[in-house]
Amino acid sequence: MALLEQLVFDNTYARLPPGFAARVAPAPFPDAHLVSANPAALRLLGLDAGEAARPEFVRVFGGATPLPGMEPLAMVYAGHQFGVYVPRLGDGRALLLGEVRTPDGAKWDLHLKGGGPTPFSRGGDGRAVLRSTVREYLASEALHALGVPTTRALCVLGGRAPVYREDVETGAMLVRLAPSHVRFGTFEFFHHTDQPEHVAALAEHVIAGHFPHLVGQEGRYARFFAEVVERTARLVARWQAVGFAHGVMNTDNLSILGLTLDYGPYGFMDDFDPGFICNHSDPHGRYAFDQQPRVALWNLACLGEALLTLITEDEARALLGLFQPTFAAHFLARMREKLGLTEARQEDRPLVEDLFALLAGSHVDYPRFFRALNRFDSGPGAPNDALRDHFLPPEGFDAWAARYQDRLLSEGSVDADRHARMDRVNPKYVLRNWVAQQAIARAQEGDFAEVDRVLALVSAPFDEHPGMEAYAASPPTWGRHLVVSCSS
Ligand code: AMP
Ligand code: MG
Repeated sequence: MALLEQLVFDNTYARLPPGFAARVAPAPFPDAHLVSANPAALRLLGLDAGEAARPEFVRVFGGATPLPGMEPLAMVYAGHQFGVYVPRLGDGRALLLGEVRTPDGAKWDLHLKGGGPTPFSRGGDGRAVLRSTVREYLASEALHALGVPTTRALCVLGGRAPVYREDVETGAMLVRLAPSHVRFGTFEFFHHTDQPEHVAALAEHVIAGHFPHLVGQEGRYARFFAEVVERTARLVARWQAVGFAHGVMNTDNLSILGLTLDYGPYGFMDDFDPGFICNHSDPHGRYAFDQQPRVALWNLACLGEALLTLITEDEARALLGLFQPTFAAHFLARMREKLGLTEARQEDRPLVEDLFALLAGSHVDYPRFFRALNRFDSGPGAPNDALRDHFLPPEGFDAWAARYQDRLLSEGSVDADRHARMDRVNPKYVLRNWVAQQAIARAQEGDFAEVDRVLALVSAPFDEHPGMEAYAASPPTWGRHLVVSCSS
């Protein structure tokens, strides 16, 4: 395990032609302090756990004294925001500090969010608030622990200078990690500014770094697009299975690697509601929970258009056709896991669909229902009251439970084995809005222990964590309809 000073940088993005990024020095907080450091992310970088306790940690990642080898830059991109093309966005408050190459060969972008203005700030202050950085910090680790591809989070750093949003808020910075921060919108920027050579250079850059099996291959751009379509379909299938709504699926927030990227007003579902809108700034529900697959495909069509100097229109259209079957198969596979089924049968799709209708009809708490399903008793006539009590009237569930029971028996499912398997699939601890909000409120008062406590829970969401059961509960009244907007 290494010291900070031993990190090795390999800044592949900085070596792209001028026009891909602007060199920007970070604007550190004068009084920066550590709010929380994530031990799992330190390990990803190969850093010793003790490194986070050094004052240098805050100085390095807060941008005050960048390490030799860092080349901070803001990436340019564009994007379709709520359906409208915005020709120039870019990192308005984020900087790629550098790309770390670890001893095991992995590469991690060190991305500082809230590090001051850039040429792409469009009048914004370049800052982020403690509320939104804590939300991203916790959510990215929560999704990772649930097996959902995502950027990771290294640390949250605080400052004392006020940041002005709807209210005066505490400023903060987040350092996140990802193999790449290239977005659909990065390709759109170069395509729509008529720079086909830069579209090609960007595609080659992404292929070289992340699709090594395609390097130099004939037809590689079409194969690259096919893989992005599939990765995105698999990502959204996982969101739907864990009950996560991203909230702002603009093309500038979609990762070319199929990672969950740019956490804003996201939401983990409490009561199951297919039309769940987590973003208060999205009154029409463009990005509602059940719209996510459709929107992902729409965004992929924007990406396909941006690649039309590399692939033909016919190819783009045909490859977009991969989305729906990939999504459907992957979603069904995830739901079989949640139901503890090991075989794939024709009747599984209606079994899943009918369950969703029941969950929606009775506004059943999504995580708690599935966690309780982990103890389903498949014995004849078993009452399964802990599950039944979620439904009004419970008879609707009884009919479904009888089908589920038959289905389990027909594949010879053994309760104890299935229970153990499902305990690693259906989490006990989910980053509900009220849990995040409680950690934020404490942090705003200067008590960061709750952030660390919630991080530990959501990083090991399948474990029981005796004494912490309150964090697995449905929201208390105050936490039922928390307003989360785009402001961050
Ligand atoms: P988002 O939808 O949060 O990912 O943000 C959309 C764009 O606005 C991104 O390009 C951000 O960099 C930029 N942006 C958001 N907030 C700020 C801010 N406070 N200062 C500068 N740019 C910002
Ligand atoms: Mg964004």
